[in-house]
Amino acid sequence: MKIEDEIIIKSKLLDGAHDIVLAHDLNGNILYINEAACREHGYTREELFNMKISDLDTPESAALIKERTNEVLRNGHAKFEVEHMRKDGTTFPIEVSVQLFEINGRTVCLAVNRVITERKLAEQKIFQMANYDSLTNLPNRRLFMDQIKKEIAKAKCNDNKLAVLFLDLDRFKLVNDTMGHNFGDILLQKIAKRLKGCLIEEEILARMGGDEFMILLPNILTPEDTYIVADKILKAMQGPIKIKDIELHSTISIGIAIYPEHGRDDDTILGNADAAMYCAKEYGGNRYHLYTSSINESVSRQLVLENNLRQALENDELVLYYQPQLNTETKQLVGVEALIRWIHPEYGIIPPGEFITFAESTGIIINIGEWVLRTACKQMNEWLNRGYQPFRMSVNISVKQLQQYDFAKVVYNILEETELDPKYLELEITETVFMQRSDYLLKTLKDLKEIGIRITLDDFGVEYSSLNYLKKFPIDALKIDRSFIKDISIDPDDTAITSAAIALAKKLSLNVVAEGVETEDQFDFLLEQKCNEVQGFLFGKPVPVEQAELLLKKVKGLD
Ligand code: C2E
Ligand code: MG
Ligand code: MG
Repeated sequence: MKIEDEIIIKSKLLDGAHDIVLAHDLNGNILYINEAACREHGYTREELFNMKISDLDTPESAALIKERTNEVLRNGHAKFEVEHMRKDGTTFPIEVSVQLFEINGRTVCLAVNRVITERKLAEQKIFQMANYDSLTNLPNRRLFMDQIKKEIAKAKCNDNKLAVLFLDLDRFKLVNDTMGHNFGDILLQKIAKRLKGCLIEEEILARMGGDEFMILLPNILTPEDTYIVADKILKAMQGPIKIKDIELHSTISIGIAIYPEHGRDDDTILGNADAAMYCAKEYGGNRYHLYTSSINESVSRQLVLENNLRQALENDELVLYYQPQLNTETKQLVGVEALIRWIHPEYGIIPPGEFITFAESTGIIINIGEWVLRTACKQMNEWLNRGYQPFRMSVNISVKQLQQYDFAKVVYNILEETELDPKYLELEITETVFMQRSDYLLKTLKDLKEIGIRITLDDFGVEYSSLNYLKKFPIDALKIDRSFIKDISIDPDDTAITSAAIALAKKLSLNVVAEGVETEDQFDFLLEQKCNEVQGFLFGKPVPVEQAELLLKKVKGLD
């Protein structure tokens, strides 16, 4: 075979190659190109031969290429990844293998460049999957942990502070259980967006899993800097979130821990932010809490309580307190609300706020709830038998109880067993119950009404802001949440909400009750607005049965 033939064959082979092959001298003059080079870069052969090899570099890659060229000159070869440019200005990633040759006393660089667009995309996808949460596209726990380690190292070097905020949605499990996981997912996405909107570029938001989020604030000076962000978040959560046709209010509990005061490594800081969050929850949620060293004690107390709750029923540690409800105009007693207390052998009286949520999450609420109903009905029957003037007994019902398929039957059986006339029983339910499948709930409520029981909507105004259900479900009364009553005489928003709620109840012919009435001013306002009934410390705190009886005796017409 002639040498010319061999050259032609080699050239054909190179032209058929998938990779870009090019040769250039040390001045950057292009000496050889194959067809793939023209195809990938979008130039004709003539155009390429009139260009310098550096014309293919992107401005960003120029420095790296210079560095690598020096390496080639030193070692005679190099392999690296870089971006190259097409004629139209777009760029693409390549893997470059370059070698130096001496040809007729002239040094030539021979480069084989493989286009690696697909590999890069796959790498990016894997990185995305490994480091980002697929639901919200936020960094996940793994990436967050990487970042916090880096930020702590930086803060250590520069003698800076940084803060970690541990966020957990309040009552998210309830929404997820009642509305379904799809609904829960959309809620999380919307909340992630709101949270992101509260932060600036260098502040990092991550989703740790479930309904837990984490924020890292680099470069803070004082705890107050973190309060500003936390306040912003609580405020951002205030507006209703609309999903499909449903509007709901979601709140967040935030725990804050600061480096270096509250821990010098990532695990300690995160653990302490978590403990502070737990504390914010214990205080009722929808708030932030800064870590203090005494928190760990209170968290361990909570764990002890959770372990003890199962035995509390068997050990007779649960009792009911009763709080009077009065007719606003006549100030006559019209009812009492049964409120549970746990008399713990070690910790004393524990309010329901500290154990009901836990009881709901584990299902023990079903047993506790039945015990409350039975005890309250029995007590009421006893009072009636002893000749006290008739009034209503109100019992709080958890959404978990209402979800039982035979809840109306459970109540019916208890009434039979305790021989209480159903007309004396009132069940207080909260707006959260309307977040479940409504056909089913409607039947339960109708069955309860048929038995002759009154239904009151407790904590009205806090949770669920679609009012359609008021028309749809058989409700007798609205109980305006005490958070609105609290500032009724100072906060014009609360005044407006309360008057509107009273007006709405009247329009729908519902009884309206105000809870948490503590002052004469509040009472005067409610009287003027014609709110039917009132309940609050002004008229009596919840008290145990013996004290409740003293109160009943004072009521007109009794012994
Ligand atoms: P709730 O049904 O809205 O009960 C009213 C709460 O407000 C009671 O708190 C009561 O002590 C408090 N309160 C009443 N008047 C005033 C006032 O003038 N000022 C202030 N600051 N507070 C007042 P408590 O007893 O701690 O109960 C808290 C919540 O726990 C109840 O809110 C209810 O949702 C739940 N709960 C209580 N007992 C039971 C129960 O037997 N079963 C269920 N599922 N939940 C219960
Ligand atoms: Mg209540
Ligand atoms: Mg209430």
